[in-house]
Amino acid sequence: MSFAMTQGVALLGIDGELVSIEADVSKGLPSYQLLGLPDAALNESRDRIRSAIQNSKLIWPQHKITVSLSPAWLPKSGSGFDLPISIAILAASGQIPSTALNGLILIGELSLEGALKPIRGILPMLLAAAKQGTRRAILPVENSDEASLIEDLEILPATNLSQVIGYLSGSCQIAPLQHRDTAELNSNLDFSQVAGQQIAKFGMEVAATGGHHLLMIGPPGTGKTMLAERLPTILPRLSSSQTKQVAAIHSVAGTFDIGYVLEKRPPFIAPHHTTTTVAMVGGGGRTIRPGACSLAHNGVLFIDEAPECGNGILDSLRQPLESGIVEITRAIGSFKFPAQFMLVLAANPCPCGRFSGKGRGCQCTSLQVRRYLSKLSGPLLDRIDLRLKVDTPTRVELADLSPRENSIQIRARVEKARQISADRFTEYSFSLNSQIPSELLRTRFKAQQKAMSALHNLIDREEITARGFHKLLRLCWSIADLREVTIPGIEELEIAISLRSATEIAA
Ligand SMILES: [Zn+2]
Repeated sequence: MSFAMTQGVALLGIDGELVSIEADVSKGLPSYQLLGLPDAALNESRDRIRSAIQNSKLIWPQHKITVSLSPAWLPKSGSGFDLPISIAILAASGQIPSTALNGLILIGELSLEGALKPIRGILPMLLAAAKQGTRRAILPVENSDEASLIEDLEILPATNLSQVIGYLSGSCQIAPLQHRDTAELNSNLDFSQVAGQQIAKFGMEVAATGGHHLLMIGPPGTGKTMLAERLPTILPRLSSSQTKQVAAIHSVAGTFDIGYVLEKRPPFIAPHHTTTTVAMVGGGGRTIRPGACSLAHNGVLFIDEAPECGNGILDSLRQPLESGIVEITRAIGSFKFPAQFMLVLAANPCPCGRFSGKGRGCQCTSLQVRRYLSKLSGPLLDRIDLRLKVDTPTRVELADLSPRENSIQIRARVEKARQISADRFTEYSFSLNSQIPSELLRTRFKAQQKAMSALHNLIDREEITARGFHKLLRLCWSIADLREVTIPGIEELEIAISLRSATEIAA
């Protein structure tokens, strides 16, 4: 026996692609050659594989070894090929039977001692393998959490190379992993924990209903973060295809949390304002990683103290907000990461944060205030429908111990309202009120006559811009859907205006 083949999986963005690993061991001076576009990590694999094989009490063939990864055009990176390469060499040199390799996928990095080390991106890898008819997968035991979510595939978690060899030689068994099904866990975040903030809470409900991006302006300590991190609790649960996307992205990024999958909870991602553009939108050198806005895909991206963000950080969000996708191009290929998220920005009313209501203790000049908030103006702010003023809860509100609505109750209303809007838009390509195109707001989706005249008056008096007109109308529809009003009227408009009351602060 001088030839054997195993299968592994390469990762392209968040998609897996099957890779065949062929090993040929033939007479000749001892040498080792690896073919098929390997990157630096793959080249380093030889030493790891040789040590791992020797430390597993097997023989590194003193012959001419050629290993070829195909398809050759496919960019392959990372260390997940250590296991399939070493098994291919062992089978080609007759140390394990190659019949055991049929319909089997092998994934894992090896340590010098032969231990199997976990790798990123297990979930999309296994999804691809299952789709292409693989029946079994051997992978590092530490990747079990993610792997347990895959149906249609027998998952065999192993701790080291010896165990894999024993299994393939028929001298030991590996217990297949139990498939884990979805179940409702109890997240500890809930809107019932938020005292007061009636308008802000309702604003969150409206934002969740229409998928509206939002800005909160208020002094530090008023609960902006508390409100934002509870937004996912009132968003509709993810569909199973959305859940798979979220899980795949987080699997690739190394931030996988089984809670996303078991709860079908939209993710909440809150990068610090000192973050970098690469961390925000994705990229990197040797390994391409999704950024915060892809980690927030199907969920919420929250940026606190947004005006403090470094130059270009907020602007980098414009492209994903526009297209819902981040595309990263490198010499080895182009990678696409989905990035459809609800953007939530929070800002203090001024650089010192005390400028509010009576402006107690604030010494910022009006120029400083304008310069601070001007970071938020322009094209990014154009995409934000709600601008909530958030104030400190009053002592009466904080002392109020009467039962508050919980997130499940609010979510039920949001889901009902979303159904109403989805039914209204069946003939269109969009399903959320925040996505109604401007021209349709002037024709098919006008508000009631009285509300339309009031809106036109606001334009005539230059109190709102044409853009503000469209945003108010979109909000009106979300409010109408929540109140189960067929066509928004003057009451809905008044509420919508109150949800943009921070507009005069951030011009
Ligand atoms: Zn100030």
